Amino acid sequence: MEYIQAAEKAILHTYNRFPVVFERGEGVYLYDTDGQKYLDFGAGIAVSSLGYSNEEYKEAMKAQFDKLIHTSNLYYSENTAPAAEKLLELSGMERVFFTNSGTEAIEGALKAARKYAYGKESGRYKFIALEHSFHGRSFGALSVTGTESYRTPFEPLVPGVSFGKMNDLESVKALIDDETCGIILEPIQGEGGIFPSQKEFLAGVRALCDAHDLVLIYDEIQCGMGRTGSYFAWQQYDVKPDILVMAKAIGNGFPVGAFGLSEKLATNSLAPGDHGTTYGGNPLALQAVQTVATIFQKSDILTHVKEVGSYLEQSLKALMAQKPIIKEVRGVGLMQGVELKEAPGAYIQKAFEKKLLLIGAGSNTIRFVPPLVIEKEHVDQMIQILKETL
Ligand SMILES: *Cc1c(COP(=O)(O)O)cnc(C)c1O
Repeated sequence: MEYIQAAEKAILHTYNRFPVVFERGEGVYLYDTDGQKYLDFGAGIAVSSLGYSNEEYKEAMKAQFDKLIHTSNLYYSENTAPAAEKLLELSGMERVFFTNSGTEAIEGALKAARKYAYGKESGRYKFIALEHSFHGRSFGALSVTGTESYRTPFEPLVPGVSFGKMNDLESVKALIDDETCGIILEPIQGEGGIFPSQKEFLAGVRALCDAHDLVLIYDEIQCGMGRTGSYFAWQQYDVKPDILVMAKAIGNGFPVGAFGLSEKLATNSLAPGDHGTTYGGNPLALQAVQTVATIFQKSDILTHVKEVGSYLEQSLKALMAQKPIIKEVRGVGLMQGVELKEAPGAYIQKAFEKKLLLIGAGSNTIRFVPPLVIEKEHVDQMIQILKETL
């Protein structure tokens, strides 16, 4: 408690944190400074994909730490080509730019779309985004984020953004005008409440982009990198974007983001002098990306996610049958949401007291985004606690 008071005095109060101080992690568990063990279904907000303390990851990172941490993007490093190639292989994109975070990758993606339009004919600058979207906290990313309360205190934001509705193609089509340059969306919305898009909707948006020469940007920062049972969600929908934004799980906790581009965008948008980053893609960050990708491929993580993900979904649906407070279960793979008929805060708090870590999404949804290495027995443990909690 004294420690928490000290922390609260020193750091800016932008989060209402849970009253716990974590010290270490092992697999899907976190341990606090009193040695208490917590089952983690949040994975540091869909980040710690390999779970905690993965041996191979730790060894690779330590070795890189000893060798070289930073060079700047004025030079190549040993990891530049292999990490980029790996991420392109998994993501199906043709070129990649590495960043330090999700929001920084969104900024780059928006700039690439603007530059593409500018190169074709100047004056096209507007973006269409979706309600309930979340794209980050920096100005550009905030401008395309669908939650009004996040945006309002910081206006004026980037001009020319309008919001359509998920899975309502007409609502998107109606927003397109001669000044539109791109459409940005999460194939499966995370923070906004776990809302998966339908294939016909994505295909329709793709067709609109092709017809109007708009850049289609997918934000797969949360739903990407194996979470839904394919490396990236777009691969299941089989509707490819022009720009794919990644972060969170790709580094397993080391801060790193990226945006991948199609060849068309890579050769017709950002050029030398247009964009940059000092740290982005430094050797340690790239070591993280390369190692996560290699471990995923070796361990056939996708098969595991499909199996345990469908078990999680079935288990949550079975719980819904017993608990009338549950309104709906939504999601894909290990990205599931349970919408309640009331705000979930008190229940998440109760689960925390029972040593289960859960996070909210939207105004009334509990989000389940565990480490991808989670096993069925952990799902059973979680369901047991959730059952007592609800
Ligand atoms: C987390 C998240 C972001 C922002 O990423 P940061 O690394 O926090 O900047 C953007 N989009 C989506 C879909 C996210 O889940």
